[in-house]
Amino acid sequence: MYTGAATYVVGFPRIGEQRELKKALEHYWDQKIGFAEIADRTRKLRRRHWLYQKEAGISFISSNDFSLYDNMLDTAMMLNAIPERFRTIHNEQELYFAMARGTSNAVALEMTKWFNTNYHYIVPELSDTMDFSLNADKIINEYLEAKEYGIRTKINLIGPITFLSLSKRVDRNPDTLELLQRILPCYVSLLKKMAFLDDEVYIQFDEPIVVKDLDKRTLELFYLSYKELANVDSRLRLIVMTYFDHAVEAVKTLFDIPIYGIGLDFLYGPENLKILNCLNGKKLIAGIVDGRNIWRNDYRSTLTLLKNIEKHVKREDIIPSTTCSLLHVPYSLEHENQLDKEIKSWLSFAREKLEELSDLAKLFFIERDSENHPSILKDNQRIFITKQQSPKAINPLVRGRVCCIEKKERVGSFNDRNDIQRRILNLPLLPTTTIGSFPQTNEIRKLRRDFKNNIISQAEYDKGIKKHIDTCIQFQLDIGLDVLVHGEPERNDMVEYFGEQLLGFILTKNGWVQSYGSRCVKPPIIYGDVSRPKPMTIHTIRYAQSKTNKIVKGMLTGPVTILNGSFCRNDIERSAVCEQIALAIRDEIHDLQNAGIKIIQVDEAALKEGYPLRKEKVAYYENWAVKSFKLAVSSAALETQIHTHMCSSDFNDSIHAIEKMDADVITIETSRSGNKLLAVFSAQGYDKEIGPGIYDIHSPRVSSTEELEEKIRQLMWVLPPSKLWINPDCGLKTRKWDEVRQSLTNMTMAAHHIRSGLQMLMLV
Ligand code: GLN
Ligand code: ZN
Repeated sequence: MYTGAATYVVGFPRIGEQRELKKALEHYWDQKIGFAEIADRTRKLRRRHWLYQKEAGISFISSNDFSLYDNMLDTAMMLNAIPERFRTIHNEQELYFAMARGTSNAVALEMTKWFNTNYHYIVPELSDTMDFSLNADKIINEYLEAKEYGIRTKINLIGPITFLSLSKRVDRNPDTLELLQRILPCYVSLLKKMAFLDDEVYIQFDEPIVVKDLDKRTLELFYLSYKELANVDSRLRLIVMTYFDHAVEAVKTLFDIPIYGIGLDFLYGPENLKILNCLNGKKLIAGIVDGRNIWRNDYRSTLTLLKNIEKHVKREDIIPSTTCSLLHVPYSLEHENQLDKEIKSWLSFAREKLEELSDLAKLFFIERDSENHPSILKDNQRIFITKQQSPKAINPLVRGRVCCIEKKERVGSFNDRNDIQRRILNLPLLPTTTIGSFPQTNEIRKLRRDFKNNIISQAEYDKGIKKHIDTCIQFQLDIGLDVLVHGEPERNDMVEYFGEQLLGFILTKNGWVQSYGSRCVKPPIIYGDVSRPKPMTIHTIRYAQSKTNKIVKGMLTGPVTILNGSFCRNDIERSAVCEQIALAIRDEIHDLQNAGIKIIQVDEAALKEGYPLRKEKVAYYENWAVKSFKLAVSSAALETQIHTHMCSSDFNDSIHAIEKMDADVITIETSRSGNKLLAVFSAQGYDKEIGPGIYDIHSPRVSSTEELEEKIRQLMWVLPPSKLWINPDCGLKTRKWDEVRQSLTNMTMAAHHIRSGLQMLMLV
């Protein structure tokens, strides 16, 4: 079907450029529309997305990249992997959304990050007693639907090894791969069915798990699976798709397996260039257009890359592709009419990337030998020449500053700082605090929206924000918390808020990217050198502090988290960008300190999430990430207590990096992972102060005082009370005031009880 000059798109976003899917789903969940309406609206979305690709001349267009919620969940449904607690639900849609979102009787499946992206997938729950069987309706229907528009799609599936590796078992055996022999027959039946769809049927198996460090057994199972799948039917053309890093070990195992093609990411896994000899006649789906970032492709360097590839792979076997699904970038620049024109010319979102692919295919396959440089190449080069000369991306002041940083970390050892801080801060044993945000009510959202849309004046807005701060401070005083926060009513998002204020960042109007289910984020874009034109948080924190004699914590987002939550420029190293952000945060800390703020929290919520997928790359990342954090807090005096907060619960292999960050206090998420994490901290001899979240803010459930007291007692088994802080496990912005009021009241009461018990003991 496809001969020569083909192009390939791994997958296309589905939320809709006006977030149509989000709106439809939310209306459906609110029972404002029925499922027939969802079906109708999503059919229109799929049609639009297919036609975009068709019109751009893309040869390999996907079906089954669409999902109402998540593709891992779809795969669980396809395999009939329904956890026990949902089996009473017989309506298919009801069941699907119940697994995704929970019901009053059954908690939802867990959700977690898809590799090192900001997309979250649903974690299937598997057990040996499950009755795995095939349900291929969605897949077949979508294939036939695309055919109505004259498009023969390749069918996207999550491959069995990635599916199992990312699932969890809920019976006694934690080994998910043991279930391979149970689910592989379903995949085989699926392939048999699909073979009848056409005379040639292309199937993409997403196997990104193989870019991680796999053990021998997993690689062996990977090999055996594809050996079996490759031989199901001669009408099938199987493609094993990898992305986000290199897949050296896995590709080698496929050497003599008769699959049609292998997808490799050459941007995030340049090591892939070394294994091209192992393709053994298979097509190479060459990931060369960045599916994870939003910069325009530099055709000249991509053509050089393609020519390098061509030294090992025949030209007709090379299919230029996106590096991964375009799910991770916004739709289109078309409606971004407020963006700076020059910067806009540097950008490329999903639809623009389709054009890039077809341009590159033209340049590589057709016009490469022509004498004159084709105009598309010239036009493209012009953008990069002007970009290089543009004063927008480079700020000599920032460069100068970075060059001569003298003080890269704060003064004093932890012990020195701790002595002084204890004297100055004068906090009780087991001090209570929160992580920063308080409920984001509709009123707060409206206030921000009205200000943004010029419906209210600056003065009205400030007054509104102050009112929310007043309420928040008063509540914390009423319940007797020790270290207060202002509640973050002025912040839409912990990254976007700083992105809006720092130079070197721009924000789009409609650059939404799906985060999970119906939720989207709009990551800021870092296009140039970063600096802070003026203080960003001083006015709000100072105001909050003026309302009380208790200590109000300053609240900042750390450099690594700001970086990881943004689309980062690709003309300089990420570490260099992070260093610039760190300097801006350092200035902010300096000013907060001068404004009399004694405790400052620098959130590194996304530090763990930025970890590379390959162990060999971890040390490098940890090194610059820790350095940036230390640089950011280097302006803090001995007396200023620096807190940091992290959301991840998986610290087993990063505890040393966290230790090196040298924060005086760390608050972490532990409530869901139990005390396992703390065991790591105590076993490794972590000597700083810790606030292990004592209750889970992700659930509306309110823990009783007794329960929380018990939790604190358990913590004291592992950590000395002198190092322990008492707090929830994350910010409270997604919770309702009613829940927060009760939970925090119970939390402070629990801390007070235990504290007086300890004081009695000490007196004795
Ligand atoms: N200070 C932030 C808040 O409370 C931290 C958010 C986070 O950890 N994701 O909202
Ligand atoms: Zn958190």
